[in-house]
Amino acid sequence: MIRNISLEEISDGKLYELNDLVKADCNGCEGCFSCCQGMGNSIVLDPLDIYKLIKNLNKSMEELLKDRIELNVVDGIILPNLKMSGSEERCSFLNQEGRCSIHKFRPGICRLFPLGRYYENESFKYFLQVHECKKSNKTKVKVRKWIDTSDIKENEQFIIAWHYFLISIQDKIKQVPDRAKDINMYALGTFFLKPYNYNLDFYTQFHERLNEAKSIIASVV
Ligand code: SF4
Ligand code: SF4
Repeated sequence: MIRNISLEEISDGKLYELNDLVKADCNGCEGCFSCCQGMGNSIVLDPLDIYKLIKNLNKSMEELLKDRIELNVVDGIILPNLKMSGSEERCSFLNQEGRCSIHKFRPGICRLFPLGRYYENESFKYFLQVHECKKSNKTKVKVRKWIDTSDIKENEQFIIAWHYFLISIQDKIKQVPDRAKDINMYALGTFFLKPYNYNLDFYTQFHERLNEAKSIIASVV
């Protein structure tokens, strides 16, 4: 989700890279789960998040859409997000003990929090969202350790490619607004609804789809 607010308002004013120390470690959250409820549709999922949910839960996208995730329009593009439900608006993966039931394969935004990404020049750096996590006694941790993501360099390349692809779709929709629905349905089908081979590497499959999608979107008039 693109936010047009100044970095100074929401962060400590610093940008971080993988090997930098950042004061983000809330030490296992210790009974707090406030960022797993009442988040509306803000926990947006990318194709890797959906790949991992389908693979690890052994459920189809259609089954996930019944009660775990939902589709919403984000900056003009239809994308999936974690569904909050019940009177407390809890994430459907939050268990009775207030812990994440999919911790090992939790989505990228959940791994990142309370860090965010600041995109610039076809790349990004991390920043600390100082008003988001309620714990006051956070300690320093390396960004790389906090994110806890395997194949981190490959993952970062994917995050960059996906982010700028979404920007290119937004630009295309501004150029040809009459085709917004077609473009959205194509992107949704290509990256989320069409099954991946869950025994094969995600990134290779993603980049194959991306290369084809770029030329198809570019040809839309
Ligand atoms: S608000 Fe902070 S301490 Fe609470 S669950 Fe989220 S990350 Fe953990
Ligand atoms: S997936 Fe897990 S970490 Fe993410 S919001 Fe849901 S319960 Fe919290």
